Amino acid sequence: MATLLDGRRLAAEIERRLGAVISDGLEVAGRAPGLAVLRIGDDPASGVYVANKEKACDRVGIRSHGGHLAADTPAGEVLALIRRLNADPTVDGILLQLPLPQGLAEEPLLAAIDPDKDADGLHTLNLGRLLKGERGPRSCTPAGVMALLRCADVPISGAQAVVVGRSILVGKPMALMLQAADATVTVAHSRTHHLWEVTRQADLLVVAAGRPQLIGAVHVKPGAVVVDVGIHRVDGRLCGDVNYETVEPLASAITPVPGGVGPMTVAMLLVNTVVAWCHRHGLDHPLADLLP
Ligand code: NAD
Repeated sequence: MATLLDGRRLAAEIERRLGAVISDGLEVAGRAPGLAVLRIGDDPASGVYVANKEKACDRVGIRSHGGHLAADTPAGEVLALIRRLNADPTVDGILLQLPLPQGLAEEPLLAAIDPDKDADGLHTLNLGRLLKGERGPRSCTPAGVMALLRCADVPISGAQAVVVGRSILVGKPMALMLQAADATVTVAHSRTHHLWEVTRQADLLVVAAGRPQLIGAVHVKPGAVVVDVGIHRVDGRLCGDVNYETVEPLASAITPVPGGVGPMTVAMLLVNTVVAWCHRHGLDHPLADLLP
């Protein structure tokens, strides 16, 4: 039976650590860390994600500076708000909840966020910092995967890792983080021929394809560690990109959906915010193990 890579449990442990870092630093900083989550429009899934992020902030003692703008807010107004938050000394992290309503371009708005307040780790400068191995906020989902692997003592150095998916949000930064941890990394994508031949090479398989149950037993080498980033609602039930029932008996360790990568993504958003707060106030923090 595969070891369960339990994201809910690890996220709760990280939240406890963050709570302790915040209470230790509060006196010197003179204020709690602040995270601004900007939601534009009424996408219902985004509403749930934003509410979850705000609840997580409350649990650890991060002040959330919520901002919910109408779907028809002009880009200039959103930009002006981002600039105000950039200049606000009580805000350590800014997150623009995606997707944006039609008509609002993501790129200029994401680019306007102060890179040192980029709680999502998706700013061009921060992706460049990741590429070069420089310090900076890391993309939350792949950083969450790295934390899950490290917590379970999954051997990464020298491992053959395959990442399915090459998005800027997950696949690309995931591949960079695994490479930085000395894995030998292959990236597969929608144009890859004979996907199963590639994925069967993996000691460590990370799937972020956005295709429900794409990966079955035929794709997995016995004993592999399997991380499922995908999340879908199919016939009213949540599932991932991996067919859990057929893959779990083969894998040595596997993430569940839900309860695997999802909670880790939120935890890493909090980590980026608290680390930015520590830097701003010259505080040491014991969170380096969470910054791949
Ligand atoms: P995306 O659509 O931007 O990218 C998907 C990638 O998968 C692409 O690079 C594409 O080439 C590749 N792909 C698509 N079909 C494929 C196939 N048949 N074979 C091989 N590769 C294929 O998606 P994304 O933003 O990277 O997200 C991927 C999944 O992860 C989605 O289900 C998304 O909802 C989920 N997600 C979950 C979290 C979380 O916190 N759990 C966070 C981000 C994304």
